[in-house]
Amino acid sequence: MSVSLKDPSLFRQAALIGENWIEADPDNSIQVNNPATGEIIGRVPKLGAAETKIAIEAARIAQKGWAAKTAKERASVLRKWYELMIENKDDLGRILTLEQGKPLAEATGEIAYGASFIEWFAEEGRRVYGDLIPGHQPDKRIMVMKQPIGVVAAITPWNFPNAMITRKAGPAFAAGCAMVLKPASQTPFSAIAIAVLAERAGLPQGLFSVITGSATAIGAEMTASPVVRKLTFTGSTEIGAELYKQSAPTIKKLGLELGGNAPFIVFDDADLDAAVEGALIAKFRNNGQTCVCANRIYVQDGVYDAFAEKLAKAVGKLKTGNGFDEGVVLGPLIDRPALEKVEEHVADAVKKGARVLRGGKPHALGGTFYEATILADVTPDMAVAREETFGPLAPLFRFKDENDVIKQANDTEFGLASYFYAKDLARVFRVAEALEYGMVGVNTGLISTAEAPFGGVKLSGLGREGSRYGIEEFTEIKYVCLGGI
Ligand code: ADP
Repeated sequence: MSVSLKDPSLFRQAALIGENWIEADPDNSIQVNNPATGEIIGRVPKLGAAETKIAIEAARIAQKGWAAKTAKERASVLRKWYELMIENKDDLGRILTLEQGKPLAEATGEIAYGASFIEWFAEEGRRVYGDLIPGHQPDKRIMVMKQPIGVVAAITPWNFPNAMITRKAGPAFAAGCAMVLKPASQTPFSAIAIAVLAERAGLPQGLFSVITGSATAIGAEMTASPVVRKLTFTGSTEIGAELYKQSAPTIKKLGLELGGNAPFIVFDDADLDAAVEGALIAKFRNNGQTCVCANRIYVQDGVYDAFAEKLAKAVGKLKTGNGFDEGVVLGPLIDRPALEKVEEHVADAVKKGARVLRGGKPHALGGTFYEATILADVTPDMAVAREETFGPLAPLFRFKDENDVIKQANDTEFGLASYFYAKDLARVFRVAEALEYGMVGVNTGLISTAEAPFGGVKLSGLGREGSRYGIEEFTEIKYVCLGGI
């Protein structure tokens, strides 16, 4: 490992199966690389169905005792876990940058954001209220209670190696569930560090397993198991649909946070400087590798040229490089296929008539670095209009009127995040109501927070994470009919 940590024990080349740590065996392990340099930073065990079974059984046992605790007792363990994450945020941030590539300030920011889900749900767990409903007969009362769903399986991606885990683990543990997690193979060390801190916080043994290894073998075991009552997944729509199918025979509850194709609309009456600032965040955060990243930027005729010029100027100031270097705001792409996708989208758009305003090619740094790019005169027939680029490419579409842009914005199979900038109050309501998306940012490019329900419609997924709605996803409703009263 090439960065030093205040607490080196947070970097463990091991998986946690039930109560046992399994160290990486050099002959049967997955190598993890630093995307900025290509160097090997460590190995994790390559595990499969057998270990997943053991973890699920440990979870089944541990969950009973955990659910029997009071919500306040669970909250105090979660609170401790949150505090440990904050105390260790510099180390956790360094591990994250090392394996994921995002700039250190952004990585440390993700740790604080990730920890906030543990804090929020520690609090929210004490408010999982039921109902007492007036009876349908004089001697009856209808009681509704919410109980933990049981054992939960989670599969998470590499773009937020910390927060995508805590956003699931927080509500699951707060509600009284157990969790078996498979983190992305590109970024397992952040997940493992979280598990080290969970142990220190006093999370009961067996309640939380972190399994590294074969995605297909682990996923198949998780979905086939009748013990696992919920699968929560963040990743591509393609894999989400596959897991949906695999979960059908056991009728699991599903939480799916899948792909997006976010529109970002700038109307004539927008504050252009604010819109540029919002676009920078919505487009270039995590180097364009978030499922809520602006993928299509629609700018109204009257302000198109002015917006393009301002955006190009602002993007010109963004420094690309190794996330550990001072002043860097754009890291590398996660791997070569990610780079190739950006190259394909740019080539396709340019071939069909788009103009390159900035960037447009791999960065001189080599590796998987790509220049922050702006394309103008982008049209609906280009690949970037339909597919998520997941890279530092801002394509600018031109539009004339509101109805037309709403139609274009909704003309996608996805429905996760959307953004628009406008001042007219009636327009703000009209457009917010007309956008077929789970989330709408109005005059802001940053919408994610523990207090708000995150999630999408259409092929972008099922269910919501965060907020008071997020914990409901980990509970079952039980109706008790009280008679003879
Ligand atoms: P991404 O584009 O973010 O890599 P994926 O959907 O490929 O999206 O991966 C998200 C997570 O799903 C990762 O943890 C990955 O290992 C896991 N995964 C990929 N394929 C499968 C599969 N067939 N079954 C279960 N999990 C899978």
